[in-house]
Amino acid sequence: MCVLDKLDKYIIDLKGLSEHSAAFAFDLDNSFFNLIEGSEIRNGEVHVDLSILEEFGTFKLIFTIVGFVYVPCDLCLDDMQQSINYSDVLKVKFGDKIVDDGSDTVIINEYQGVINVSWYIYEFIMLSIPLKHSHPIGLCNPFMVEELNKHLCIKKEKKSSVANEDSDPRWNKLKEL
Ligand SMILES: [Zn+2]
Repeated sequence: MCVLDKLDKYIIDLKGLSEHSAAFAFDLDNSFFNLIEGSEIRNGEVHVDLSILEEFGTFKLIFTIVGFVYVPCDLCLDDMQQSINYSDVLKVKFGDKIVDDGSDTVIINEYQGVINVSWYIYEFIMLSIPLKHSHPIGLCNPFMVEELNKHLCIKKEKKSSVANEDSDPRWNKLKEL
């Protein structure tokens, strides 16, 4: 089974909807994040409710995403649990070509009439993770914090020694004058 087949259950047949509204639910686990190419999230448990409303040919896909994922902590790089509580709306229309009219509407081929929402769900989860995220104070991996601090100190020392070397020849020249 290829990766796309495994993500098949996230394909929504918009063309085949019999009503103007529909509801779907997905439970994501580690295997979902492993299937997403280049995923920065390794593990997690996330519940997704998806409601679809169709009005005048535009589909509103309303995602409600709740759960938690594991991402590397900014301070110690160990995995930390990040809770997720996010909702967003994706607008989808049928069309032949992608018209960039500045709107955030996704245009999909009318003949096929389907959209795979797995990538959008992943993107929404990524969007919901704060730019800066770290363990609560005192819960970082102490070994890693020490190692990173050492590394930072070495960098600083190197920088200052380079600065000294740089200034030396000029000082010498000045002395010559
Ligand atoms: Zn940490």
